[in-house]
Amino acid sequence: MAEDTIFAPASGPGRAAIAVVRLSGPGTAGVLKSMAGRLPAPRRMTLAVLRDPALGDALDQALVVWMPGPHSFTGEDQAELHLHGGLAVRTAVLRTLSGIAGCRAAEPGEFTRRAFLNGRMDLSAVEGLADLIDAETEAQRRQALRQLEGRLGSLVETWRARLIKALALLEAALDFSDEGDVPARLDDEAAAIVAEVGAAMRRSLADGQRGERLRDGFVVVLAGPPNAGKSTLLNALAQRDVAIVSPFAGTTRDAIEVRCDLLGLPVTFVDTAGLRVSADPIEREGVARTRARLGSADLVLWLVAPDLPGEAGPAGNVPILRLGTKADLRGANRDGVDLTVSAATGAGIADLLDRIGREAETALGAGDAVLTRERHRWALETAQAALARAQAALTEGAFGELAAEDVRLALRALGAITGRVDVEDILDRLFATFCIGK
Ligand code: GDP
Repeated sequence: MAEDTIFAPASGPGRAAIAVVRLSGPGTAGVLKSMAGRLPAPRRMTLAVLRDPALGDALDQALVVWMPGPHSFTGEDQAELHLHGGLAVRTAVLRTLSGIAGCRAAEPGEFTRRAFLNGRMDLSAVEGLADLIDAETEAQRRQALRQLEGRLGSLVETWRARLIKALALLEAALDFSDEGDVPARLDDEAAAIVAEVGAAMRRSLADGQRGERLRDGFVVVLAGPPNAGKSTLLNALAQRDVAIVSPFAGTTRDAIEVRCDLLGLPVTFVDTAGLRVSADPIEREGVARTRARLGSADLVLWLVAPDLPGEAGPAGNVPILRLGTKADLRGANRDGVDLTVSAATGAGIADLLDRIGREAETALGAGDAVLTRERHRWALETAQAALARAQAALTEGAFGELAAEDVRLALRALGAITGRVDVEDILDRLFATFCIGK
C-alpha cells in the first residue's frame, strides 16, 4: 500500500459548473476531517464548507464524498470534492491540499496505477479504461468498454486456469512416474487440455486484427492525377473546409488528413498530392509521400475525371475503388469506373460514404474483437506456439518435463496480458488439493 496521499483535478480544465478533485491514500480521512470539519457518512454526497486547516479560511461550499477502501476505485481510502467550477476555487483547494503533510499532486495515471497494484483491475482493464477515455466513435467506445469490463481479462483467466490444471497434471505424472499407468492417464488428460486451449487461442488470433485496426482507424487515401477532384471531394466528404481547392494542378503538395466518424467507425481520409512526374523538389517530395501513403492505406479511392486523360491506377494489393468524379460534366467517359460522384452537386456522395462504411466495418468489426493491441497478439502467439510444442511433445510421448516447461512458458505469456504472473502460487495451491491416493 502506498504511503502518500495523492490528489488531482478529475474534471477538465477551465471554467465549468462543477470541478471534481479526487484524493486517494491513507491520509484521506484526515484531510476530510481537517478541511470539512468531519468525516461524512461513507459513499454519500454531503454538503460541507471546505476550509484551509491552517488558517481556518473558507475555500468553497462543496459536495464531499468519502469512499473508504478497499471497495474503492484504487482500493485505498478515497474522497471526491465536488467544487464550484471556477478557476480560483480549484486553485485555492489544490494549493491547500498540497500544503497538507503527506499529501501531494498525483502523477499522470497514478490513481489507475494504484488500482492495478492493489488488484482492483488487471492490465487489460487498465488498457480498456485508457481506450474508453480516448474513444471517438461508437464502435471504439463499445470495444473499450468490453475490455474494461473484463472480456479479454476473463478469457485469459479461463485459459490460465485450464493450463494451470494441465501443468499440475504433468507435474503429478512426473511425481508418479514409478507407478505404472498413472502417468500415462495424467499426460493424456493434460494433452487434451493443451489441445483445447491451443485451438481456442488460434481462433482468437484469426480475427483479421480487427481490434487493433479499430483503435487505429480505417485509412482511405484519395489518389489520382492532379485536378482529378481529390481536394474538392475531401471537402464534400468531410463537410468541412480542410483541403485547399484550386483550379491549378499540383497545389496539394502534402497529405491532408481528415478524421471522421462514419457509422460509428473511425475513418481517416487522406488527400494526397497528384501523382505526377515533376521537376519541382517540393512537389516531388509530395509525390513520394503519396506513394508511401498508398502502400499503407486500407482503401484507395482512385479518382478519374472526365475532363482529364485517364491514367492507370496504382499497382499493389491495396483494395482500390475506381471513382469517376465530376459526374455533372457532360460527355463523361465512365469505362472501368466502380462509382461516380459529383462533389459539385453532391450526387453519389451518400453511396460512396455507404460503400466506405461497409468496407470499414468488414475491416474493423463493430467493436467485438477480443485482442485490441499488438501486445496482446504477441503474447497470445507466444503462448500458442509454446502449447503447440507441448502438444507435439505429449503426442510423441516424449519427456513430460519438456511439455511442462512449455505450458509454463504459455502461462507466463498469458500472464503478461493481464499483468498476473503468479503461476507458482496458484500451482502450489492447486497441487496441494491433488489426491491420487498417495
Ligand atoms: P485535385 O488536384 O485532384 O485535388 O483536384 P481539385 O479538387 O483541386 O479540383 C480540380 C478542379 O476540378 C477544380 O477547379 C475544381 O473546382 C474542379 N472540380 C472538382 N470537383 C468537381 C465536380 O464535382 N464538378 C465539377 N464540375 N468540377 C469539379
